[in-house]
Amino acid sequence: MEINMQIAVASGKGGTGKTLVSTCLLRILGDENSALIDTDVEEPNAGLVLMASAPETANVSRLVPEIDYNYCNFCGSCAEVCNFNALLVLNEKVLLFHELCHSCGACAYLCPLAAIKEKEHPIGVIEEARLPGHGRVLTGRLNIGEAQGPPLIKAVKKQGERAALRIIDCPPGTTCAMIESIRDSDYCLLVTEPTPFGLHDLELSLEAVEMLGIPGGLVINRWQGEDGELLALSGQTGVPILGRIPFSVELAQAYMQGRDPLEAMPVLLDILSDVFRQIKGALS
Ligand code: SF4
Ligand code: SF4
Repeated sequence: MEINMQIAVASGKGGTGKTLVSTCLLRILGDENSALIDTDVEEPNAGLVLMASAPETANVSRLVPEIDYNYCNFCGSCAEVCNFNALLVLNEKVLLFHELCHSCGACAYLCPLAAIKEKEHPIGVIEEARLPGHGRVLTGRLNIGEAQGPPLIKAVKKQGERAALRIIDCPPGTTCAMIESIRDSDYCLLVTEPTPFGLHDLELSLEAVEMLGIPGGLVINRWQGEDGELLALSGQTGVPILGRIPFSVELAQAYMQGRDPLEAMPVLLDILSDVFRQIKGALS
């Protein structure tokens, strides 16, 4: 059965188990035409969890302005048009703060003396590894000190766009990086815990999913027989709880030791297969 679908796996806060869910979904559903795309570019670890083969890497860069001082008269227009305060004209110098630049190109376009060219600025790499029988694992890895994750996230998603099943392991929270990661997905699974911690972050994530018009559902991880306030939240928002993964010391240990979680907790196969069945039902 070929699945043509993009499922984003996100979470309100870090550490709730979204990488566990996304890697298990690939193990259960993936075939040679599938990809797991890790867009948690500041801390990617899906490839590690899956023990994917040694990856091939490709550099990714974005365009930033470069001043040609043969033409610049330090008029200051570029700093004025920059919405992100990435440019400062000071003492016959135009300073660029790379971490603030969003590569919008406005300064180069609007410089009255055409004194700005755009040059490539390296931001990170895409690693591509194969997981025999389950397709590819694509990882975006941001360079240390680089603050702009979304251009790398776009690049790694583009690399995986031809896969029929695309599972996106998103960064936590509701940052620009999370929004860029879930954008264009058919469905967003939010992995959470039945504790008060992170409930506010989860609500914000649900708002982001709703804003983008993406159907969503919840998976409760480390479930101990109670849903906490999640049942009420599900009722208020209309976002269903699709599955509950029981708390298990053995599963946690297996995960930490790099063993297959589906072997450590066989019922996980049924739980996540049922989650997928409900996703398919919601999209049909
Ligand atoms: S707008 Fe152009 S000419 Fe003016 S300071 Fe910036 S680079 Fe120089
Ligand atoms: S490219 Fe855009 S964000 Fe970057 S410095 Fe120029 S105006 Fe600012």
